[in-house]
Amino acid sequence: MTTVEEMRGTIQSIADISNYIRGGRGRFTMESQVTGKRLTYQVHSPKKQYVLKDRPLWITFLNGQNEYQFLGTIWVNSLSNLMTFALGKNSKLTLESPCVKGITWLIGRINIKRELPKEMLFWHEGICCRCGRPLTVPESILRGMGPFCSTM
Ligand SMILES: [Zn+2]
Repeated sequence: MTTVEEMRGTIQSIADISNYIRGGRGRFTMESQVTGKRLTYQVHSPKKQYVLKDRPLWITFLNGQNEYQFLGTIWVNSLSNLMTFALGKNSKLTLESPCVKGITWLIGRINIKRELPKEMLFWHEGICCRCGRPLTVPESILRGMGPFCSTM
């Protein structure tokens, strides 16, 4: 019996990482092979359809108590796919908090299409970036998207 945990996989190219996040329902971990530190984030899409030039993605992160906590919003420009991060209004976190630094660093790389350094791994946590269902087929695990969502 395999578990969802074993179905996670790394995504290497920054373009694929951008796709995974923009899928809107993914869960991912950044892991530094130098420090061993890990940061896990969950992407949420608002049910409401926005007719805005920027599409919001809500981001939660796994805190020290092993709970997902609201972090802020990534606004994705619908034309350029450029991302902007806005910290949640009532957040007690600051721009210096590791989880905030992590996501802004990643978005910065995505925006200038700069590949991650070798020592930084990007893991998807075994769920489809578009529908959030567990991934089971090897090919799906490679790209972080299930067979149905891949054809959309
Ligand atoms: Zn899917």
